[in-house]
Amino acid sequence: QKLDFVAYYHHIIDRFEMSKGEQFDFKRELPNKEIYTTIDKDKMTQVLDNIISNAIKYSPEGGTITFRAWPVGKRLRISVSDEGVGIPKNNIDKIFERFYRVDKARSRQLGGTGLGLAIAKEMVHAHGGDIWAESKWGKGTTIYFTLPIKGIRESDRR
Ligand code: ATP
Ligand code: MG
Repeated sequence: QKLDFVAYYHHIIDRFEMSKGEQFDFKRELPNKEIYTTIDKDKMTQVLDNIISNAIKYSPEGGTITFRAWPVGKRLRISVSDEGVGIPKNNIDKIFERFYRVDKARSRQLGGTGLGLAIAKEMVHAHGGDIWAESKWGKGTTIYFTLPIKGIRESDRR
């Protein structure tokens, strides 16, 4: 479907905000424009659910989770940043591989299969976008992905 990604992203974040508890602060830095993308809503929801669940799951001390979206040329760039455990530099590209998990013991405790980001990568590529990560071990992680922009409109959203 062609839809305003910014409104859709707000909606996804709202759903997590209701259940996040007091340990986390959510911060949104989103454009107050309508930015249209063509997405399979169910698949994109799976992508965002995994990225946001990871941000929560790998932030044992809580902290702020920051949501951003901004146009870069003909693409919308979307990011989710956390202040969690981070990922060692030499492992940063491996997290998108199937079954790869940074700390096997810890990850087993936290549950999951190590498939979330591999699936996210496949789905973002199927949408004509890219996905990557930046992280500082012990400081936090940002996951970025892009989607082709199909149109931008001024909006009266606050
Ligand atoms: P699943 O998503 O299948 O439930 P998972 O969360 O372990 O399991 P992925 O989402 O694919 O699997 O993530 C792969 C690995 O990358 C994780 O096990 C974790 O080690 C690391 N990782 C992912 N996101 C973060 C993050 N925000 N902070 C720190 N490490 C992360
Ligand atoms: Mg995951």
